[in-house]
Amino acid sequence: MNKYTAEVLQFLKNKYPWEKEFIQSVTEVFESISYIMEFNPIYQNHRILERIVEPDRTISFKVPWKDDQGKIHVNSGYRVEFCNVLGPYKGGLRFHASVNQSSLKFLGFEQIFKNALTGLLLGGGKGGSDFNPRGKTDGEIQNFCQSFMMEMSRHLGPRTDVPAGDIGVGAREIGYLFGTYRRLRNSFDGVLTGKGLGWGGSHLRPEATGYGVVYFTEEMLKQVNENLDGKTVAVSGFGNVSWGVVKKVNDLGGKVVTLSGPDGYIYDPEGITGEKVDYMLKMRLSGRDIVADYSTEFKVDFKREKRPWEIPCDIAIPCAIQNEMNESDVKTLLANGTKCIVEGANLPLTLEAMKLVQESDAMYAPGKASNAGGVACSGLEMSQNALFLKWSRDEVDKRLHEIMRNIHTQCHEAALEFNMPGNYALGANVAGFRRVANAMIDQGIN
Ligand code: GLU
Repeated sequence: MNKYTAEVLQFLKNKYPWEKEFIQSVTEVFESISYIMEFNPIYQNHRILERIVEPDRTISFKVPWKDDQGKIHVNSGYRVEFCNVLGPYKGGLRFHASVNQSSLKFLGFEQIFKNALTGLLLGGGKGGSDFNPRGKTDGEIQNFCQSFMMEMSRHLGPRTDVPAGDIGVGAREIGYLFGTYRRLRNSFDGVLTGKGLGWGGSHLRPEATGYGVVYFTEEMLKQVNENLDGKTVAVSGFGNVSWGVVKKVNDLGGKVVTLSGPDGYIYDPEGITGEKVDYMLKMRLSGRDIVADYSTEFKVDFKREKRPWEIPCDIAIPCAIQNEMNESDVKTLLANGTKCIVEGANLPLTLEAMKLVQESDAMYAPGKASNAGGVACSGLEMSQNALFLKWSRDEVDKRLHEIMRNIHTQCHEAALEFNMPGNYALGANVAGFRRVANAMIDQGIN
């Protein structure tokens, strides 16, 4: 690693030794951009790395709420407003027991470069709460969202900060959050994305992350004269991203054979098609957060507490959560002949797993490139809101497809520039970083 890059990384490790996931994501980005630091002293002169690793601000607040029995609970809420040199802070809200400042800093940091790759005017941020939606009633979810927005509302604005969904936050939660914002501020603003279609949402937003992942996969496969037709695909998770992936893989002639939850995974060798795809939505809405229900409903195998990566597949798409695929999972996949690993989630591969797949012949797509379709469609939703217009489904799909192709081209070309053809991780980090860093230089020290 180049000297300046290594020094900033060491400084960060000393300053925030407990922020393991954040350090992991910075290490991953720094290893790639180390190459450009060497030949572009301007970034060091402007102290871009020190400036980029510190969020503009982190808002931390309490979220008190009442359950159906009248008992009062208190959760922690956060918004990490990381960087707005390219546009309003943009990134999802995650409601999950694992949420803390370190995990949100890592997600916010990733989001800066992901959003830059979309080519739209989007800054980077992330927020959420350690509130666990599992087993909560609709009324409890509403109470929680209203309390969360009581504080969050004062930090948002269509040109300031525009959150969206992420794990544990879907259309229903966005509805409750938006309603509270609208009432508190007496203003109908495009201040959240992923809104309902009838009140400012965009066509395709629910599917966009998953569709984008598959569009990116298609582009990668084209490089080796391949396509998705007839391919077996292993997917993890059963939420929003997995659902979109399953739908688009089916459209393009592939077959998804696994889904997973915190309880284990299901193996459906016939493929997840038709009513089974709709059943994914029911599982999500049930709030039970277990995938075993699928095996009961459709009489397929369920492997308790196992991950789907032991099933032979051509393509593996981890769509659940960070660090869900380790070195030994990658070894198993490669031994079984997997040719392509595409990240649907944010940083689902550990650093070691990522290195291993990069050293192999298999192709690898980093989440900040391959899962950017969700936030890209959010950007399209913001554009539509600003125009007070709604584009057709085809129009949005065309734009989304174009953005994903363009992200692929940027990654591909940046990798070629450094003589590392096919290294999408390097390409994504370099292309994303350059856009942000150059804007920072243009805009002066602030
Ligand atoms: N949570 C999604 C992501 O990780 C979407 C963010 C957004 O639409 O703002 O990119």
